Amino acid sequence: MSAHNGPDPLGHWIDGKAVDDVTGRTGEVFDPATGRVARKVALADQAMVDRAVASASEAAASWRSSTLSQRSKVLFNFRELVAAHLDDLAGLVSAEHGKVLDDARGEVQRGLEVVEFACGIPQLLKGGFSEDVSTGVDVYDVRQPLGVVAGITPFNFPAMVPMWMYPIAIACGNAFVLKPSERDPSVSRRAAELLAEAGLPDGVFTVLNGDRDAVDGLLAHPDVAAVSFVGSTPIARHVYATGTAHGKRVQALGGAKNHMVVLPDADLDGAADAAVSAGYGSAGERCMAISVVVAVGDVGDRLVPAITDRIGRLTIGPGDQPGSDMGPLVTGAHRDRVASYVDAGEAEGAEVVVDGRGFAPPDGDPDGFWFGPTLLDHVTPEMTVYADEIFGPVLSVVRVDALDDALDLVNANPYGNGTAVFTGDGAAARRFQHDVEVGMVGINVPIPVPMAYYSFGGWKDSLFGDTHVHGQEGVHFYTRTKAVTARWPERSISPLAAGTGSQAGSGGSVDLQFPTSQ
Ligand code: NAD
Repeated sequence: MSAHNGPDPLGHWIDGKAVDDVTGRTGEVFDPATGRVARKVALADQAMVDRAVASASEAAASWRSSTLSQRSKVLFNFRELVAAHLDDLAGLVSAEHGKVLDDARGEVQRGLEVVEFACGIPQLLKGGFSEDVSTGVDVYDVRQPLGVVAGITPFNFPAMVPMWMYPIAIACGNAFVLKPSERDPSVSRRAAELLAEAGLPDGVFTVLNGDRDAVDGLLAHPDVAAVSFVGSTPIARHVYATGTAHGKRVQALGGAKNHMVVLPDADLDGAADAAVSAGYGSAGERCMAISVVVAVGDVGDRLVPAITDRIGRLTIGPGDQPGSDMGPLVTGAHRDRVASYVDAGEAEGAEVVVDGRGFAPPDGDPDGFWFGPTLLDHVTPEMTVYADEIFGPVLSVVRVDALDDALDLVNANPYGNGTAVFTGDGAAARRFQHDVEVGMVGINVPIPVPMAYYSFGGWKDSLFGDTHVHGQEGVHFYTRTKAVTARWPERSISPLAAGTGSQAGSGGSVDLQFPTSQ
């Protein structure tokens, strides 16, 4: 499947225009369902980074003074355009990522919810005002934009993750430079075209295609004030350390190992459905995918057969093929890496209940990056298949005796992105959500992605920096507060209005005391 009909290699979007970049390095973008190269993408060098940031800096200088109603109008127009082009955008996502179309539509829809949130920017930017903090003195605060902010995003949600960032950054009055994943860059070009059509001034939104050179160029650039990053933990750590060393504000969201704890009193069918949809949806290439089922007590004996039965009913095929539940993995290299984890798990003693290695759909292209749903039972915390983020359709079952053991297991894990508990016992659920050291918790909900008006982010090695994305924390990340203390002495009132007025220079004592409200 090839959904793009644009330039090859795909260039950048700078100053409100497509910018070809045919002289430099390029990356290959695959059609994961056939394994063939679908297009190439330009990989920016330092000169292109400088050009993109210069354009964004110029645009930021005037966009910061745009009115709130101008900004919300552009975002509202954009909301309408994305909704009208939802299927095209989902098609671009599916063609380069491999996920099935319904899933791709869902991702665009979740991104759209952030745009809708950002349309409320006049309300979101309201500050506080305190009248008469001292005689004739008022204090208020305003939130002002930072200038140029950059977003660096992963392959797995090429539409949604950038939309966690740019609608809010732009609504707050910043110019935004997006460096999307080089594996599925086409949907970001389309978003740029739609933002321009929505009336966004040139330069306020830039797409800089590239790889680590572009990222490092942005991280060191003196005119980039802040960086939002979403991707794997080692790169998140690097982005946070480098960005903050260059004086930038950084939020860097990393990888995950999400546990779903199932207690013996859980609705077994509901829990099995949830494990399958959260484990194998999008071929496990979701930062909120469940990769470990923690079976408490004897529930594993019933849950493993229930999950196995459901796996047998999944259809694996090209993302655009009606009826496909799960598509291929993003690249051949990634598919091989996922397979190596299953090999290691088997060698370390895990029981391979369902084996997806070597799978190819009967009517699919054998050269596609296929990997079937895989279920491993009796996994233990020492195994690499448990320790590392695999990011594929591999579900590991770890068996423990009691809720306390499950909590200890989850809390000992270095990641802390998402988790879920399945139980019919409210007190057990409450204890879990209270004691678990994870940023996003589901109670009988397998993928607890917060709505746009809450904030998304993990704890521990799943987030470097302390601000989560979107919601009010997103507004805070993309603005800085200025507190103003104001006094307008009576003498400033014109004689006509006040009747009398004291004269400047008429004397009075000089006071060096620290100001208090007394
Ligand atoms: P990745 O870390 O390989 O790439 C992310 C971004 O970093 C890309 O834009 C890429 O070009 C850039 N990059 C890659 N290597 C780099 C380097 N050495 N130096 C500088 N920049 C570099 O991640 P990915 O494979 O695209 O995405 C999957 C990962 O993202 C998984 O670990 C997943 O858990 C994580 N993820 C996390 C969240 C979250 O909210 N926490 C959401 C989505 C994805």
